[in-house]
Amino acid sequence: MPSETFECVVVGTGPAGMIAALALASRGVRTALVGPAPNMNDSRTTALMAASKDFLENIGIWAALEADFTALEKMRLIDGTTRLIRARETTFDAHELKLPAFGYNILNKNLNRGLEKLIGENCDVTFIEGSVTSVRSSPTEATLTLAGGQTLAAKLVVGADGRKSLVREAAGIDVDTWAYKQSALVMNLSHDLPHYNVSTEFHRETGPFTLVPLPGRESALVCVEAPDVAERLSRLDDEALARELEDIAHSVLGKFKVISERQVYPMSGLKAKRLSGNRSVLVGEAAHAFPPIGAQGLNLSLRDIAVIADLAGKAKAHHQDPGGDDVLASYERQRWSDINSRTNAVDLLNRSLLTSALPIQVLRSIGLYTASTLGPVRRLLMREGIAPTFLLPRLMRRTAPTANSRA
Ligand SMILES: Cc1cc2nc3c(=O)[nH]c(=O)nc-3n(C[C@H](O)[C@H](O)[C@H](O)COP(=O)(O)OP(=O)(O)OC[C@H]3O[C@@H](n4cnc5c(N)ncnc54)[C@H](O)[C@@H]3O)c2cc1C
Repeated sequence: MPSETFECVVVGTGPAGMIAALALASRGVRTALVGPAPNMNDSRTTALMAASKDFLENIGIWAALEADFTALEKMRLIDGTTRLIRARETTFDAHELKLPAFGYNILNKNLNRGLEKLIGENCDVTFIEGSVTSVRSSPTEATLTLAGGQTLAAKLVVGADGRKSLVREAAGIDVDTWAYKQSALVMNLSHDLPHYNVSTEFHRETGPFTLVPLPGRESALVCVEAPDVAERLSRLDDEALARELEDIAHSVLGKFKVISERQVYPMSGLKAKRLSGNRSVLVGEAAHAFPPIGAQGLNLSLRDIAVIADLAGKAKAHHQDPGGDDVLASYERQRWSDINSRTNAVDLLNRSLLTSALPIQVLRSIGLYTASTLGPVRRLLMREGIAPTFLLPRLMRRTAPTANSRA
């Protein structure tokens, strides 16, 4: 007999898992969250787009996290290649969309700390520190076994357990995986000049070099390089590294100083062949992962979470099974095309930077030229960068019912 029963069990305590538990609780679904203590040593940052902020507002957690976010008001794209055909520099301004900012950047450790606190204060979420070793399902419920032998029962399981997802494996879901000959070197920098809340992205032959604003005169850097170059850079002493990075950035922010540890992430992609089964749905990197280009990863995950929280909340409100076949099929239907198109778009963008084929360079330049000069194209691109115009989940819309007015 399971020792405890919940309406939903979320597996995984990364940002996706913690936000999923809070979102489900906001829709009245009694939820357990199972995973290790959240990671407080992740010095990466995450940029959440405006639609993701609206979602966090709608589930009632934005106000508690807001102080740790830095607004991204403009995005500046600079062709940093030395190729024959180079694209024109383009700056996108959120005010053109009548938004105060495109997105908001936060240190992952601050995000995780804020989410952990919110979970501790939420009486509809029970945090169970541990690791799930098996998930089995019957026609009426799923049973999860934890490493210490404890068992939990739930109607619905949300797999937010990352790239090596056990929930996915237990549901018999295969994945497509692929690797890029690139690594992302990540760290935080301070600089002499103010960033004026502008995120600057240099497109280089080896991948993007992106500076994303943090509070004060600090920015997060994601520098995509050939794996051996990323390794070499990561082994330089602070001064030599800061000098090389400043050269790449053409000193747009003045002199750099390295203010965090450096992390190197080999770049790869993953896509689950299905998103549900075994009374389980997959969200976040359990379902999809791709290179950190254009700040899309967690934003896409929040759209997964918005859909499953809405479906489970509605099922519960109508006394239906939140892990039943209808909910699983609807989740699959609503998420498939967004996940596919974002994964393909990020892959295409990355490959278009890497290729030296002249026709592709010409197309890329024409695309950016059109974006920089034609208002409607600019605005369409800006809106799509924030979230898909036609597939925005209900809980991400500004008109969505909030945590206190479920419908
Ligand atoms: C360099 C870099 C920069 C990025 N920048 C951005 C950005 O600016 N904007 C953006 O939107 N995205 C960004 N991303 C993507 C974003 O960081 C990821 O989408 C996000 O961190 C993944 O979150 P997740 O919760 O899905 O997975 P993870 O963070 O991998 O969490 C999985 C969790 O599941 C737990 N777990 C695993 N197995 C079990 C088990 N059996 N039982 C219990 N728990 C288990 C793990 O311990 C972990 O807690 C970036 C990624 C990288 C690499």
